[in-house]
Amino acid sequence: MINKYLATCDSCKQKFIFRAVVPLATTDSLRFSCPECESELWANLTLDYSVPKMDLAPQGFILDDLLQEYDLPIITVATDLPVHKVKHVLSLTEGGSPFLWMNHEMGAAFPIWREKVDSLQSLRHGRLHDIRRLLDYCRISRWDNVRKCIEESFKDLIPLNNEFSFSEPIKSIHLCYRIISCIYTPLVLPEKMLEFLEEYYAFLNDCINTKDNQYKNLIGNWRENPEYQAFRSKILGTFLRVFDHFDAFIVGLLYEEMPPSLQERIDEYRIFRDDYLVIKALYQDIFELTSQLTVFLGAIINLSIRNDSCLFSNGDRSFNRFKRRTAFERLQILSEVPRLNTLLSAVSRPMRNTIGHFSAYYDCRSGDLQYDDGTNINYIVFLGQFFTAVKALWFMLIFVEKMDIDWQRYLK
Ligand SMILES: [Zn+2]
Repeated sequence: MINKYLATCDSCKQKFIFRAVVPLATTDSLRFSCPECESELWANLTLDYSVPKMDLAPQGFILDDLLQEYDLPIITVATDLPVHKVKHVLSLTEGGSPFLWMNHEMGAAFPIWREKVDSLQSLRHGRLHDIRRLLDYCRISRWDNVRKCIEESFKDLIPLNNEFSFSEPIKSIHLCYRIISCIYTPLVLPEKMLEFLEEYYAFLNDCINTKDNQYKNLIGNWRENPEYQAFRSKILGTFLRVFDHFDAFIVGLLYEEMPPSLQERIDEYRIFRDDYLVIKALYQDIFELTSQLTVFLGAIINLSIRNDSCLFSNGDRSFNRFKRRTAFERLQILSEVPRLNTLLSAVSRPMRNTIGHFSAYYDCRSGDLQYDDGTNINYIVFLGQFFTAVKALWFMLIFVEKMDIDWQRYLK
């Protein structure tokens, strides 16, 4: 659905036709530029899902209802669908709906993506408060409260019957992380999940089966270790923030699912979002967590392969020595887990382009991220990279889940 208005730029008084695609998910603001004078214009969007209605609060321009067609410049904006830079500034019928056009460009992959968006939207719209409560109890390891929360709010989402015979609180821990994975299931394909997990579990099971005492000592230390506790807590907190901003990574998901021929032409498209600073902060946090994960995941790998949790594949013989290395050096040890390496190392790509050092900014005129060295990247592609980081976070949640369970199982 597209809402159409007659708009006037505050700066140059140019009139233009403003076509705003109603977002599939809630987005709070968008940014674009005047078709005449190029000054920056933005609008806050309030979307009420109980009625199909969007409130626009324009800044830098004013809106009137459009009663008839004028021969005026056209701007089509969408926050979660790529807008064709040429096609969608034309009048009807060529300049039709970005939604129908993407459907045409993507074929069968589009309705599948759309379904995933709807499922995430309904989870966030209806359950964000409950998910926040669940995560909070999980963060402080109040498994009795987790149990109560699941019974009160998630019974319909997850069967509570005795399909596994664990005792409490292991059962509640399982259920809690299964609810989290319900949110992730549309994002990382189950068969992919299995590949990553198999690789990790092979090391973990080896530690449990053949290095029993060393393994128990290691995870016992982590339970008392403020650094591990902070790592665990930040993962759960970051998950909640990512979920709350899912309308950014669904664009990344869309990009990932595009046929390669369309990905190659992505610069024909742009997206209208105003969330670079939020996404950048989330991205940096996930990158930092990935770097911290190498210490803990590394310890499991070290114990399994070299019978010593402190002996890293790069020759470092202590955690402190390893922690002094740069994030990029640390990531090298993931070559011992090649599948996970593809998942986790991908997070570092945009950081190499130094989004972390204030040397990138979002240019609302082009819809690109601009770097200091003069290069640029389409924001849709950047959101694709953000989506990669979101998938890495999924593995980190699995990592802390296994540890939560093993604390209960082995450290009674
Ligand atoms: Zn203007």
